[in-house]
Amino acid sequence: VSDRPHVVIIGGGFAGLYLAKRLKRAAVRVTLIDRRNHHLFQPMLYQVATAALNPSDIASPIRSILRRHEHLDVILGEAVRVDTNARTVHLADGDTVSYDFLAVAPGARHSYFGHPEWESAAPGLKSLEDAVEIRRRVLLAFERAEREPSASARHELLTFVVVGGGPTGVEVAGALAEIRRFALARDFRHIDPREAEVMLLEAGPRILPSYPECLSARAKAELRELGVIVRESSAVTTVHSDAVEVEGGLRIPTTTVVWAAGNQASPLLTTLGAELTRQGRVVVEPDCSIAGHPEVLVLGDAAWHEHGGAPPVPATCPGGIQMGQHAAKAILATIAGKPRTPFRYFNKGQLAVIGRGRAVADLGKLRFSGFFAWLAWALIHIAYLIGFRNRVLVMIQYAWAYVTFAHGARLITGETGEYAARIARGA
Ligand SMILES: Cc1cc2nc3c(=O)[nH]c(=O)nc-3n(C[C@H](O)[C@H](O)[C@H](O)COP(=O)(O)OP(=O)(O)OC[C@H]3O[C@@H](n4cnc5c(N)ncnc54)[C@H](O)[C@@H]3O)c2cc1C
Repeated sequence: VSDRPHVVIIGGGFAGLYLAKRLKRAAVRVTLIDRRNHHLFQPMLYQVATAALNPSDIASPIRSILRRHEHLDVILGEAVRVDTNARTVHLADGDTVSYDFLAVAPGARHSYFGHPEWESAAPGLKSLEDAVEIRRRVLLAFERAEREPSASARHELLTFVVVGGGPTGVEVAGALAEIRRFALARDFRHIDPREAEVMLLEAGPRILPSYPECLSARAKAELRELGVIVRESSAVTTVHSDAVEVEGGLRIPTTTVVWAAGNQASPLLTTLGAELTRQGRVVVEPDCSIAGHPEVLVLGDAAWHEHGGAPPVPATCPGGIQMGQHAAKAILATIAGKPRTPFRYFNKGQLAVIGRGRAVADLGKLRFSGFFAWLAWALIHIAYLIGFRNRVLVMIQYAWAYVTFAHGARLITGETGEYAARIARGA
């Protein structure tokens, strides 16, 4: 086995995992490196952030997912540098791993457009830790408001601002509007959670800019029905711990901001020596490799693939999955001495959820919204969840929440005293 070609995969997200799965029966040795021990289903993260699901419902240990993969090793470690000449990956703990083929799929983080200092006041939503932290902030804001005697301070605590009107921002804003109206409405004695304000700020002229205009308008109308204040053409200029400032001089007092406005690819990619886009994604060749190094493939959110007159491959789960599956074919073709075929993305369309029974679907010629779009969203997402247990649990929790309007995962974890004191001080 040790003389089989060694395929090293950085990242056990959608691209990395589907590549590893495709190599299960191939005559190669595989090492998958991830800095976390779990594969995370990011599309349902907002439901952890808004207390509808538990972290373990949407994540599975990478080792257990791939345990039947005989010739595969999993390394829990962070890749910090790739030496494409020596064909080695350097880990943060000083170890090195050498490869014959390398697939780099480390995903992306949020970008604060040159203002990293905004992150502490406006966390983004990419990891389980992010989601649990947002959930904590949201629930703590209600707890603080319950004991706050000053009306203006209470209003500040009960104002929730979501920055960025893409699918994530729309999902988070819709879910916040719903929990304040339904799940939390009966839990407090001194405040009425239904009076909380949820605001969605979008810098561009319309929310869901990648969708057809009619669906953007539909999503905006649905959000308004839920009571979300949607502000388009409202670029954020500053984020403070107690307010957000918007272009044109508007200042919105708030202690809870969720950042869903921009992406920046992993810094690891800068070590590949390849051309990068402004967002730090690697400009890849038609087969997803980097120029001059056919043995190095970059996949998923980390890759910028724009070839053959087609639009660039979107940074979505299907984009990552299809690139991962293509990379397996490309590697096996090279091993067999055959030429590689170019990667072609098959666009299945896009779906964005807004709330309970509300979503928009753009499936090519088929565009629709409302309950059936939501049902399509729920079924497709449950089908792609990794792990049978997760699928069953999420399905049961969805059905329960649909009937009762309840959000069962309303736990505040971590230290509450210090953070509560900090929001009280506005620090
Ligand atoms: C909140 C949210 C909602 C979304 N909703 C949707 C949706 O509804 N539909 C849709 O299609 N897409 C959605 N997306 C986008 C989708 O999740 C991504 O496009 C997809 O996850 C990209 O897959 P990937 O394999 O490139 O990266 P990821 O899935 O992000 O995986 C990257 C992996 O690499 C690991 N890693 C990172 N850096 C290192 C390192 N240096 N060393 C070792 N390991 C590392 C990470 O731990 C992670 O496991 C959403 C994304 C977010 C954040």
